[in-house]
Amino acid sequence: MMADGTRGIAFTGLFALLVVLMVPSVSASDSPVAIAIHGGAGTIKRSELTPEQDRAYRNILNQAVDLGHQRLAAGVDGIDVIVEVIQLLEASPLFNAGHGAVMTWTGEHELDASIMNGATLEAGAVAGVKRLKSPIAAARAVMLASPHVLLSGVGADEFGAQQGLEQVDNDWFSTERRQRDLERYKARHSAGLSPEPTAKFGTVGVVVLDAQGHLAAGTSTGGMTGKRWGRIGDSPIIGAGTYANDKRCAVSATGHGEFFIRWHVASDICARVAYQNLTIEQAATDVIIGELLPAGGEGGVVALDPRGNVAMVFNSEGMYRASIDASGHKVVAIYNSQSERERPEGD
Ligand code: ASP
Repeated sequence: MMADGTRGIAFTGLFALLVVLMVPSVSASDSPVAIAIHGGAGTIKRSELTPEQDRAYRNILNQAVDLGHQRLAAGVDGIDVIVEVIQLLEASPLFNAGHGAVMTWTGEHELDASIMNGATLEAGAVAGVKRLKSPIAAARAVMLASPHVLLSGVGADEFGAQQGLEQVDNDWFSTERRQRDLERYKARHSAGLSPEPTAKFGTVGVVVLDAQGHLAAGTSTGGMTGKRWGRIGDSPIIGAGTYANDKRCAVSATGHGEFFIRWHVASDICARVAYQNLTIEQAATDVIIGELLPAGGEGGVVALDPRGNVAMVFNSEGMYRASIDASGHKVVAIYNSQSERERPEGD
């Protein structure tokens, strides 16, 4: 005979089990998840990358997209997946974000980042930070732990420190490659020449659809080589470099920030999805190819719609990019699609 208390516990356990079986679970496995990543757009020709460099970029893009997809499939919140994936890219010297960020005119690093939650339209961003090791983590902290959207400069560094985020010396971000880029930039500038046509941008960005059905977007960058006077690009500007709205789409941009700010690229793409009922591919193409290209605004975007369809559109020679859409289709690519098709087997 069961004691009354034991019988009560057994009954409650059975009831809980029935509830679990009856309520349709939003478990990771039966909800579509999707992710798209960029590592910057620009003049990226096959002839300019050695096979080793080509492989190194593809390896880390692969690693990043797989990591993000696994986390999403396990049900991790989209915002946390974005931070984790971008931190992997910020730590790589290959990209213009975190370690490996480009240099300002004075040989320093000033970093920008932003993040947006498509479910709540909450957003956070930092601009011109010099000491925060992970600008994307700082952007998330602004979103979650401050009443503001965008913090800049010394104040943003101070806020990050108060939040317990890791601080580094500014030269932690430096690499020899970026030092050489700055020297070339200055030499061309004093010769009255425009910046090198081969200049690559190299910002990183991630958009996700998580297992809870929410979109999110994030972007992190060192900005543009030789920038001066506290110049800030599109990456920390919500609506320009980053935007997410569950009802519309999620976008992260890379390219010549001055154009992306004035064309308000990320939110314009999502507005076209909402008001013109366009597919994400069409909306992104209309803005990047239809509007920016004739205006001379070089760059591209990665974007997702609420069903997990991916668009990766650019008007430059190439864009480091990777995606896994809601059906599980995976893409890792660098050059334009014609050039990707011509890749020798095993290259
Ligand atoms: N959009 C960035 C900026 O203008 C640069 C980039 O995408 O690499 O600061």
